[in-house]
Amino acid sequence: MRFVRVLGLLVVVLVLLSACTAKQTVSSSFFSQIRHVYFLPDGSKLTVCGVIAKSDQWNEDIKPSYANFDIHDGKYRTHVYWKFPSTGKPTWFQPGTNVSVSGTYWISNPKHLEEPEIVADSVQPLGKCASCTTQSTSASSEPPFALRVWGAAGEVAGSCYQITVGSKNILIDCGSFMNGDDAQLSTPSNVHRDTDPFPFDPVSIDAVLLTHAHDDHMGRIQYLYADGFNGKLWMTKATKAIFVAKLDELIRYSRLSASAQVGLKERIERSIKTVDYGRTVHVTKGIDATFVDTGHIPGSASIVLNLQDGKENHTITFSGDIGSGHHPFLNTPDLASLSHTDTETLVIESTYGGETRDYPEDKDLYREFLRQLKQALDKGHLVVISTFALDRTQRVLSAIEEGMRNDELPRSLNVAVGGKSSCYLTNIYVEFQNNQKKYRDYFSDRFWSEKPLANPFWHYLRGDNCENTAEEEKRTDFKQFDIIVTPSGTGGSSLAKYLIQKYASDPQVTFIKVGWAPSYSPMGQLAHTEPGGTIEIDGQKYPVRAEVIARDDISGVFSGHADQNMLLKYISSFPKLSTVIITHGEDDARNALETAVKEQNPQLETIKPVYGEAIDLQCLSTTH
Ligand SMILES: [Zn+2]
Ligand SMILES: [Zn+2]
Repeated sequence: MRFVRVLGLLVVVLVLLSACTAKQTVSSSFFSQIRHVYFLPDGSKLTVCGVIAKSDQWNEDIKPSYANFDIHDGKYRTHVYWKFPSTGKPTWFQPGTNVSVSGTYWISNPKHLEEPEIVADSVQPLGKCASCTTQSTSASSEPPFALRVWGAAGEVAGSCYQITVGSKNILIDCGSFMNGDDAQLSTPSNVHRDTDPFPFDPVSIDAVLLTHAHDDHMGRIQYLYADGFNGKLWMTKATKAIFVAKLDELIRYSRLSASAQVGLKERIERSIKTVDYGRTVHVTKGIDATFVDTGHIPGSASIVLNLQDGKENHTITFSGDIGSGHHPFLNTPDLASLSHTDTETLVIESTYGGETRDYPEDKDLYREFLRQLKQALDKGHLVVISTFALDRTQRVLSAIEEGMRNDELPRSLNVAVGGKSSCYLTNIYVEFQNNQKKYRDYFSDRFWSEKPLANPFWHYLRGDNCENTAEEEKRTDFKQFDIIVTPSGTGGSSLAKYLIQKYASDPQVTFIKVGWAPSYSPMGQLAHTEPGGTIEIDGQKYPVRAEVIARDDISGVFSGHADQNMLLKYISSFPKLSTVIITHGEDDARNALETAVKEQNPQLETIKPVYGEAIDLQCLSTTH
């Protein structure tokens, strides 16, 4: 019950004048008079609470979907127009549901005279124990446990979850929406921008906990600090090594002004607190956290939170990204440790919630990758391997090293690593490997016994210190190399794009794609074009005469993500679990995972939150 007070007290509660950040609280009797009292400035932001009275005008044919509906509180009704930010109608959206509506209030604008009176930015269910009519009478002073979802809702990107305990707030991750300014990367489910103002006050956040150092989990951290966040930033030691290495670029390529960038890196670094796997740390009043290995990338963790408020407590776990369980250098996800937690609520990723992979063939596919590589090399081709800078590049290098060692590839290959991030991240892996004492727990026994990167046989196109410019890199005589490993890039000025422009029509070159690339990107186009077809880059057409190998099965071997089987195994490791909140996946993937979860354990409640949805954790826990 208590949560609801915060969300939307009976009544209109907040008026945020959109032009400035000043907040104005409107008296609680306001909402019931909303149609009659016109003192609210046109175009001002407000949040109201009510019951959905009518929801029949839902139009799913138009993307993004929109809804026209009334909400009522007692005898008064207000019309709402809502452009729903995801790909379909949420399951909770039906008459009788208590919702909190945030949006813009219009009354006098001629455009809106007959149309909606509130244009909603977000509509959130209040949870099944919530009701608009009970909350205003709730006199309890004890605040709730609440989870708010600010990203990765119906999409993979933008992970950012707010946990509230009393007056304390923390974030789990603060990730990029990964769409930059590129309209092609915007989908109906991905309408947010990294530079949008945060939907909460960064000053009010007491701490941020990072699950791992991928951009979709950490890519908005710089904005958080620039907007006043002043708390501690918790992460594992291996995550810190990667995070700090990426911080320079994160800040430099942000939209922050030059003056806002001054000293920012140092400020962020100073606020970092490291934690090892398995050790419980006190984050802030009422919140303890334990990081548990997920085997996704070095340092990746699930975060178990013990929330405490007076006599009440709740355990919620954020899965972070879960590894495939087949990463040669990392340990398998530590399900044993998770099984000893009291986790009642699980927030889980669902990137590949709808896919299963046939792992027994793993080894053969590794061999297959090396066979394909050898065939191309035997033909005297230059081989360009397009892959991710973090973890994938290093695994590809290790596979090449293994191939050379086992005579599956020619003994002495001339291998180059292109791109700046691939350069400094590979150097971080070498550093990991040379610091076994510090990083022992972060890698598998195989990593420590084989030391696959101990003998750097590759050449960095950006120079050993990774400081050469992209222009200098492009002046390389690429054909002096046998293999070039380069980040796949999504366009822009990436090396992959340059090499594709240069060599797509060269029959003496083989491109191998290891990992995902958007279908319109140069690598994505190449992967989807039949031999003899053409691709188009920056308005120019290139006939494809190079050999292109883009096999999902080979890519899958290098995947850092759990498939559906692994996700189900992960979920079943929690003995006290009652609710599974499915995030970090496209709608198809999370629907598939939800179905599988229900099949495996019909007792579990599943929630697929929308952006901005607030979930009353106490309500969840008391109803089970
Ligand atoms: Zn990740
Ligand atoms: Zn992720």
